[in-house]
Amino acid sequence: MNPPPFPRLDVRRFYDGFDAPVTDFDCGQKCAPHNPGGKPFCCDICHAVPVAFRQEWDYLQPRTDLWHAWRGDECTAEPLDPASLCAQTPEHLMLLACQGPAHCQREYRASSCREFPFFPYITANDRFIGLAYEWEFEEKCWVISNLWAVTARYRAEFIRTYDELFARWPDEYESYYAASEEMR
Ligand code: SF4
Ligand code: SF4
Repeated sequence: MNPPPFPRLDVRRFYDGFDAPVTDFDCGQKCAPHNPGGKPFCCDICHAVPVAFRQEWDYLQPRTDLWHAWRGDECTAEPLDPASLCAQTPEHLMLLACQGPAHCQREYRASSCREFPFFPYITANDRFIGLAYEWEFEEKCWVISNLWAVTARYRAEFIRTYDELFARWPDEYESYYAASEEMR
């Protein structure tokens, strides 16, 4: 058996330290009315496929029926090509699908649910300086147009979580360095 690519993560601790909602209210009520499917965009598999570390999947699988491995046929309106999306997904990550927002279990949200609509931004001179938003959701996500609503607690948890993660997993830092470079 191959060794795990990253040191073990205490997933429960990771989740508990990154648990604050992005806003003080349910921002899903702001965006869902603009989605023909009636779901918040980030919880609609037709718009966003959740991603988790494989270590999260190991933790989640025996504890909750919220998730299953993404198949590609969950969005009946616009089925995606599983082969192409899986090919773009690094080995240590896994694509998932949940039962939908009506059945969400907040304590078992994946890391991609917790970080959405942001990712850690790393400058060209190699400094993690905070949060950047996912540009492709600029026209869908209400939060992106209303950054004032993001709470200080959420920002603090986000930064502490990624500071700790990058200290343990330098490869993850490199991957966000590349993502930040691509965005620039
Ligand atoms: S984070 Fe954005 S897309 Fe997700 S529920 Fe809030 S406003 Fe909607
Ligand atoms: S687990 Fe909850 S927060 Fe995450 S995508 Fe599903 S409904 Fe949304």
